[in-house]
Amino acid sequence: MLVKDIQEYDSQFFMNTFGKRTPVAFEKGQGINLWSTDGEKYTDFFSGIAVNSIGYAHPTFVRMVTEQLTKLVHCSNLYYIESQALLARELCRNSCADKVFFSNSGAEANEGAIKLARLYFRKLGMPEKYEIITLQKSFHGRTITTLSATGQDKYAKPFEPLTQGFKKVPLNDFEALSAAVTENTCAIMLEPVQGESGVYPCDAQYLKKVRELCDEKKLLLIFDEVQTGMGRTGKLFGYQKYDIEPDIFTLAKALGGGIPIGAVCAKDQVAQAFAPGEHGSTFGGNPLACTAGLAVMKIMEEEKLPENAQRVGEYIKEKLQALAAESCPVISEVRASGLMIAIELNAPIAPQVKNKMFEKKYLLANIGENMLRILPPLIITTQDADEFLAALSCALGE
Ligand code: PMP
Repeated sequence: MLVKDIQEYDSQFFMNTFGKRTPVAFEKGQGINLWSTDGEKYTDFFSGIAVNSIGYAHPTFVRMVTEQLTKLVHCSNLYYIESQALLARELCRNSCADKVFFSNSGAEANEGAIKLARLYFRKLGMPEKYEIITLQKSFHGRTITTLSATGQDKYAKPFEPLTQGFKKVPLNDFEALSAAVTENTCAIMLEPVQGESGVYPCDAQYLKKVRELCDEKKLLLIFDEVQTGMGRTGKLFGYQKYDIEPDIFTLAKALGGGIPIGAVCAKDQVAQAFAPGEHGSTFGGNPLACTAGLAVMKIMEEEKLPENAQRVGEYIKEKLQALAAESCPVISEVRASGLMIAIELNAPIAPQVKNKMFEKKYLLANIGENMLRILPPLIITTQDADEFLAALSCALGE
């Protein structure tokens, strides 16, 4: 269908909570490219918001998922599931976690992490420990509890009353964080690099102190790795860029390569708090989603995608900084952690630049008027990056 015909049905029947969309519909993807229903080819530097890290239609992914699709999509968590056990093992083998629980999305994984943290202290006979400290400008999801954890009022305000027990403090301000801890605090929850608000990384020194504070006050440290996980920042998991480990971390987005799946990953001692029947999900960890996860893990390892993200991310950052210094003074700052990149502009032109790039057949996103955000597939080469940067340089010039 042509996009104008889709638009007609969409405006009539779809409950559009996403606002004005770019007038295009995609019907096919291959590698870093997408093709629209009107036959145009685009290059994707946004990866469906950090989801398509292995690229579109990766042969290993297609083969493994298709095979599983023909055998069994879903049965029930009342029975054992091979791919679920294998994916849990793969995630534990490659991280500090000992146990994994699967959900269907990032918000649902964070809900699971929050429930686990509160239950952990309840089982220790400390039900008064339920408060969770999160960071201002954080994003943790769109369910009522994850909105309550999210540090951006605009998302949560219309849905009050929210879930009780969340306090927000500024990023990288250790004094404010330690001052917010009370005898009711059970956990500190943060993104190693804030994604939705515009790529703001935690300082290494700050995270070290946060870990020490958690140890000293017996608090759980929860990392929301929904966006930073699965190689995006240059390591398989974002915490691995720092010299510390969380007690719980959550995953989603790139874990399933586009098939919905999330995960709560925890140390054994914490994970034990969930007794049988205390948490669950109908679809979470079904055979198809876990096979997709296994395919993504295999490809990440075989193609060394975290390393590529680190290398090409560093390359793009340097090139952007050079561009800013030499010919594009409109770029005021570049923040990057692997292939999680934000470009701050000192003029309110980000939406126009995004549209110009769309005309040049590149997909990226803006945050507000002054920020561009790029999240390319982790398979990109420096040559792909050069072509993108040439187009971006023109768009900024125009
Ligand atoms: N946490 C973080 C850090 C995210 O970036 C997002 C999604 N942008 C979420 C949680 C929510 O994930 P989902 O949309 O899969 O519920």
